[in-house]
Amino acid sequence: MINTKRLFASSQLPTLPSVAVKLLELAKNPETELRQVVDAIKTDPAISAKILKSANSTYFGFKSEIRAIERAVPLLGTTVSTTLALSFSLNDDTMSSGPVADHYKAYWMQSVVQASAAERLGHRLNPAAAPEYFLAGLLMDIGRLALLKAAAREYTPVLEKCAAESQALVEAENAGLGVNHADVGAQLMESWKLPDAIVHSVRHHHSTAEELAALRDTEDFKLYAAIAVASSVGDYFCTNQKGRALERMRTLYTEFLGFKPETLDSYLQDCSVRIEQAAGLFSVDVTELGDPAELMVQANDQLVQLTLREHVASTQATIRHQEAEREKAVLETQNRELQKQALHDPLTGLYNRNYFDESLEREVSRGQRLAAPVAVIFADIDHFKKFNDTYGHAFGDIVLQRVAKAFQATLRTSDVLSRYGGEEFVVLVGQPTEKGVERLAERIRERIQAEPLEFEGKSVHVTCSLGAAIAIPGRKEQGVGKRLVAAADECLYVAKNGGRNQVRVRSLISDLDRQVLQMVTNQRFSRWLVSQGLLDVPSASRALLEAPVQSSRIGELAEMYGYLTGAQVASVMEEQQVCGERFGAIAVRFGFLTLDQLVHLLTLQQENPKQLAAVVMRMGLLAPDKVARALEQYIATQVPEIHCVPAFADLVTA
Ligand code: GH3
Ligand code: MG
Ligand code: MG
Repeated sequence: MINTKRLFASSQLPTLPSVAVKLLELAKNPETELRQVVDAIKTDPAISAKILKSANSTYFGFKSEIRAIERAVPLLGTTVSTTLALSFSLNDDTMSSGPVADHYKAYWMQSVVQASAAERLGHRLNPAAAPEYFLAGLLMDIGRLALLKAAAREYTPVLEKCAAESQALVEAENAGLGVNHADVGAQLMESWKLPDAIVHSVRHHHSTAEELAALRDTEDFKLYAAIAVASSVGDYFCTNQKGRALERMRTLYTEFLGFKPETLDSYLQDCSVRIEQAAGLFSVDVTELGDPAELMVQANDQLVQLTLREHVASTQATIRHQEAEREKAVLETQNRELQKQALHDPLTGLYNRNYFDESLEREVSRGQRLAAPVAVIFADIDHFKKFNDTYGHAFGDIVLQRVAKAFQATLRTSDVLSRYGGEEFVVLVGQPTEKGVERLAERIRERIQAEPLEFEGKSVHVTCSLGAAIAIPGRKEQGVGKRLVAAADECLYVAKNGGRNQVRVRSLISDLDRQVLQMVTNQRFSRWLVSQGLLDVPSASRALLEAPVQSSRIGELAEMYGYLTGAQVASVMEEQQVCGERFGAIAVRFGFLTLDQLVHLLTLQQENPKQLAAVVMRMGLLAPDKVARALEQYIATQVPEIHCVPAFADLVTA
């Protein structure tokens, strides 16, 4: 990358001789007289000589010989004279030898080509301004000269890479230097105070068609477009990017300059002649440029190659994309299948033991977070071996499938049913209560007992024994899942021993937990609404499903209600670190909270009354005025302190 500040501070940058500076100043002033221009040119004998020589060249084609600068200047006009003076001051003979000589020659030759191409366009578009077009054409690549003179070490590798890899010069410059010759040139010319129109045309000579289109409404758009076309003519004649150059040239020539496409050939012929004349003017050898017709063949060849390559690339990309999509689809199906296989039992279609183990773990950690109970129910078909032995293994399979169906019919969607092993099933009960688990197990037992089964016209009876367990996982309690399964298994064993076709349930919930749980359950707003006959149970359940879950911590709630001070909360938390007990249990043990207060906080944590009220209202389960009155009454039944705690309002609107 190039440091542009340093670049523009470099003493190596091309400079204008004083005669050129003077001429530029004069050109700006409309009052300037011819005599002043002549006088200025005469101050530089070398430039005077060159201008005189030019006036006699085929480029201008005057018939009689011109012998004095005083006569040459009026014949050429001030603009042409100034342009020539400026051009000659840029032709730097010291660069024609040395390490960058070839790059310099290439730059200078292309500049002459571009000047001629621009002048020919100016001639067609605005003959009076043709010298200006010539000047802009000649200067457009001056940034290349600047980079060669002031940053040769960095610039040379870029130029070499560009030639070797057939990269566009501006792209190579941007990538390798962080600047490009169009910007460098424009900035340099700005510092020379050249006319704005010329500076802008140079800045945009490599712009894309879209970028140029954005300038369409500006005053000097024709000049910008012409210089861009001339730039492409330069690339077309002088670089190995002929195809691309021809394409850009054609687009800009027809769309921006409004010329007919069929005139492009004759324009290029015209350029070719002009280039030769200008080459004489600047003593450039253009013999290696080649014949325009020959160039056209080369360029068209390249274009065909480019188009072909793009076509092949896009076709390959399409094929690759299609292949990738196909592979993805296959993988997705395989994945789905594998996932199904990994989590399901093929015989019954129920989840398998893996899935149960995972779900149990998830439920236990949820229970740990929310102090919520977790329950499992195991069911084992009674004397199943007998079915296999009596009716055959195939019938045994049918029995398993029928039992699975009967099982499913008794469960809610939040319950997870899995085939645990041979003829053993397990339910992970959603939002269980002690009573609820027992009732569910009993319902399953009855349903399976009632399942009508036949073998060869003879009815066959199936029964199962069930063992269930429920627990509230402690905050840091390890192995809750295992203990729950073991307890349920023991219950199942007891049920078998007790004569089969029966249910046994064990609760691992402590007395305090049970008491609190009971109180919390009873005190929840949803329960209260049901108990008051304002909502039925299904409506309350639906509202609860819609209501957002509270996530405030008990400690925070307790402080908000003024039940606990910050110091008390801190000391409870400290104790928690030591014993791993729940916050509420410790706070009660420390005598910081009454059981009622704890129940109140837990109730709020589980169910936010105001939010639930809003949901009930939104779902149209109860008229708005009834909801408001119910909420008021409910709050009045709660722990008395809460009325005077202002934070309550914040809490329920949270
Ligand atoms: P209990 O009342 O004590 O549970 O007696 P049981 O006969 O049901 O229990 P036991 O464990 O003695 O026998 C279970 C049988 O279940 C043994 C096994 O061959 C059979 N079994 C396990 N998986 C399948 C299966 O996928 N299909 C069939 N048809 N039978 C199975
Ligand atoms: Mg250029
Ligand atoms: Mg069995």
